[in-house]
Amino acid sequence: MRTAVPKLSFATGGDFISDTRREVELYLRSRRTRLHGRIQLYAKTFVALAISIASWTMLIVVRPGLWGGLASLAGLVIGAILTGFCVQHDANHGAYFRSRRFNHLMGWTADALLGFSSYAWRVKHNVAHHTYTNVDGYDDDISQTPFMRLAPMQAPRWWYRLQHIYVWPLYSVMVLRMQTGADIAALVRGRIGNSPMHPPRRWDLVGLVAGKAIFVCWAIVVPLLVYPWWVVAAGYVGFTMATSLVTATTFQLAHCVEEAGFASAEELTANKRIWAVHEVETTVDFCPRNAFLTWVLGGLNYQIEHHLFPRVAHTHYPQIAEIVRRNAAKHGVRYTAQPSLRAALRSHQRHLRALGRMGVPAEIEMG
Ligand SMILES: [Zn+2]
Repeated sequence: MRTAVPKLSFATGGDFISDTRREVELYLRSRRTRLHGRIQLYAKTFVALAISIASWTMLIVVRPGLWGGLASLAGLVIGAILTGFCVQHDANHGAYFRSRRFNHLMGWTADALLGFSSYAWRVKHNVAHHTYTNVDGYDDDISQTPFMRLAPMQAPRWWYRLQHIYVWPLYSVMVLRMQTGADIAALVRGRIGNSPMHPPRRWDLVGLVAGKAIFVCWAIVVPLLVYPWWVVAAGYVGFTMATSLVTATTFQLAHCVEEAGFASAEELTANKRIWAVHEVETTVDFCPRNAFLTWVLGGLNYQIEHHLFPRVAHTHYPQIAEIVRRNAAKHGVRYTAQPSLRAALRSHQRHLRALGRMGVPAEIEMG
């Protein structure tokens, strides 16, 4: 049962973010720099869409047999990951074009190509997650009870002792949940976390319905005309599991690790925090300087920079990271970057284990 939760607000401003913002604006002042970032972003979009279309055409038109089919399915997964991280994510944040309408149109690739509603995503991700990062009850990304305990203030349950093992199958159905139950539940409830979600109207409604129809058509209906149902089912499950695992892991490594801070609404009410500092201290970068990972993940290994500047194209994050890191050190803000993917994964596992073990005694469980 939901209990009433206080309305939350952060203090804005502060020396850290004003110094950082000034330097970032200086860096982005050059027209050449901005143009370079945009061209990289648009080129990536072309690659993402070309891989997706070529792989789908191979599967449906050429029908290349088992190994060719598996290679094409892998191509579809890669195309979807690139579209999810490098196209829809930037566009739905408003980082792609100047025009809001064009950003929403490009963000609609989430509906048509990935199967989840960009309208719901903008509330879940842009509002609930980006405004209230790692705040229990507000950030929907860490609200996975009673399946997982991701924040220390969430109530313990005996089964969380095994969560570091069973989270992986749960992560692998995340996109399937978004495509089905999560979108519908958000529409029915009219909120995500504690953020209101108004019923979509006009073009938003058209986009949602048409997007789902197009997705179901290319991902299920047309393949059923070509392959037996069990081949389509296996391909669809494989496709969503692979995209889910990569997506969930990327976001979890940035926020659900030992080094990331968490907060409850009560703590934030009693002790008002500066928003920019809260964002840096609840988020962790990983593998900076790994250019390939940065390219594939749409700069989401630089999540600190993304949280501070979500409307800046992700192709600028490596340069912005230098500025943020320097100013964090200057103003005493805790800034963490995991050196490798392995270190980040181990920290995530340790975080899950520690929360699974913490406060489990039967008296508390029954009280
Ligand atoms: Zn984001």
